[in-house]
Amino acid sequence: MDTNLPKSNHPRVVIIGCGFGGMRLAQSLKHDPVQVVVIDRHNYHNFQPLLYQVATGALEADSIAYPIRKIFAGQKNFFYRMADVEHVDTANNRVHTNIGEVSYDYLVVATGSLTNFFGIESIERNAMQIKSIPNALNLRSYIFQNFEKALLKEDPAQRQALMNIVVVGGGPTGVEISGSLAEMRRTVLPKDYPELDLKQMNIILVEAGPALLGPMSQKSQQEALRYLQELGVDVRLNTGIKRFEDCRAYYTETDFIPTENLIWAAGVNGAALPGLPEQVVTRNKRINVNSWNQVEGFENVFAIGDVANMVTDDMPKGMPMLAPVAQQQAEHLADNFRRMIRREQPVPFKYFNKGVMAIVARNKAVVDLPKDVHFRGFLGWLTWLFVHLMTLVGFRNKVVAFVDWAFSYFASDQALRLIIRPFNRRDMKDDKGKRAAEHQVATPQYNPTPPAIQTPAA
Ligand SMILES: Cc1cc2nc3c(=O)[nH]c(=O)nc-3n(C[C@H](O)[C@H](O)[C@H](O)COP(=O)(O)OP(=O)(O)OC[C@H]3O[C@@H](n4cnc5c(N)ncnc54)[C@H](O)[C@@H]3O)c2cc1C
Repeated sequence: MDTNLPKSNHPRVVIIGCGFGGMRLAQSLKHDPVQVVVIDRHNYHNFQPLLYQVATGALEADSIAYPIRKIFAGQKNFFYRMADVEHVDTANNRVHTNIGEVSYDYLVVATGSLTNFFGIESIERNAMQIKSIPNALNLRSYIFQNFEKALLKEDPAQRQALMNIVVVGGGPTGVEISGSLAEMRRTVLPKDYPELDLKQMNIILVEAGPALLGPMSQKSQQEALRYLQELGVDVRLNTGIKRFEDCRAYYTETDFIPTENLIWAAGVNGAALPGLPEQVVTRNKRINVNSWNQVEGFENVFAIGDVANMVTDDMPKGMPMLAPVAQQQAEHLADNFRRMIRREQPVPFKYFNKGVMAIVARNKAVVDLPKDVHFRGFLGWLTWLFVHLMTLVGFRNKVVAFVDWAFSYFASDQALRLIIRPFNRRDMKDDKGKRAAEHQVATPQYNPTPPAIQTPAA
């Protein structure tokens, strides 16, 4: 069954995934003599860099997502099927999905990445992740629901475990979410929970390496650390979380931080699809591609974005998993498709690094531009807001995000703290539904003498 896609005289390019890479490629092929078929399990494009703002109640979920059909309205060569791709059959040029099969002339895998729990089962089962909109809404609901529960506890140790938040991973996501939570503790929570002693609430950012924001400049790393410490975040470098069970986040075999809330932002794997030969998939599930994104050993199969492992002389560990890489590879592949149609030789991809940035809190952000240009503070914060506002998809989303940010800035408040998802860890499974559905929320068990936790200044 060909999922009712119309026949075409033009070659069919099937793109799996409508994230940053897939969407840009489909748009770039708008005027080309190809039939573009996009398959994604969600009917919207998700602007992942702002997920943490949804998780902390700063933005509405609707303002960082945009319906795929609306993005492509009017593009005549575009077709979309909402489906989960289960595996690819490269021998027969077919993709198997949960709604049927789709044949292709050219296949582009743009499936992005999945959270990497490094095989730690207790963390996979009990921690929260932040990869999708449902994850972000779960996280927001879960944290606020734990505050409601904390009000009911007599035992200070139990109350503290409900209020403590451990963030694992000192990359941009971990830094941004820690900063945002610390702001929430300062501005929103005292108004909402005057009965709780918020000095008991610890936000602990744990990073296994010696510095935060690994790929950024040393200046930015140190600045981000200083900002977080000023906000009262307990940053623990060279520390790893080894397991998380019974409301204890263990950083050694026996030492733990009592917490109900562990946010795992410590790494991602590529989302390679079953069906591709083992030898083209790396240990962290990325797909080996050559310098024009063609999958090793295939004429007509390509991979772009996070899932593509493109190794170059200047990037021996592969391109970074960043939105601009996915977008630039998409545009470049569209150009190379045109070359291939004209029977010309494809041209190698070259990444143009426009810079990296991370926001910590209001008026506190760090920006690294090429040629060793760094700035921070209010200017960094404004730059971050501007870039993210401009790259959000859709005019309505830009306006809503702008209004939400302006409101939070001037009112020192956030409008969004509804608990709209059920309190249950089993709902925190990832997109692939990997978590055990039967898992129940762990029964809290507290160590009678919990280790001392640095208490932030009021
Ligand atoms: C919390 C967070 C913050 C980030 N912040 C930044 C930032 O500040 N700056 C930056 O540059 N990058 C940031 N990133 C990384 C950036 O989002 C990714 O690099 C980018 O999304 C990669 O684009 P992509 O097209 O490869 O994949 P994605 O954008 O992840 O898109 C993949 C798409 O494939 C679909 N899909 C996957 N598997 C299947 C399947 N089997 N069947 C059907 N559909 C499937 C998914 O639904 C998704 O729509 C962040 C990521 C996260 C999670």
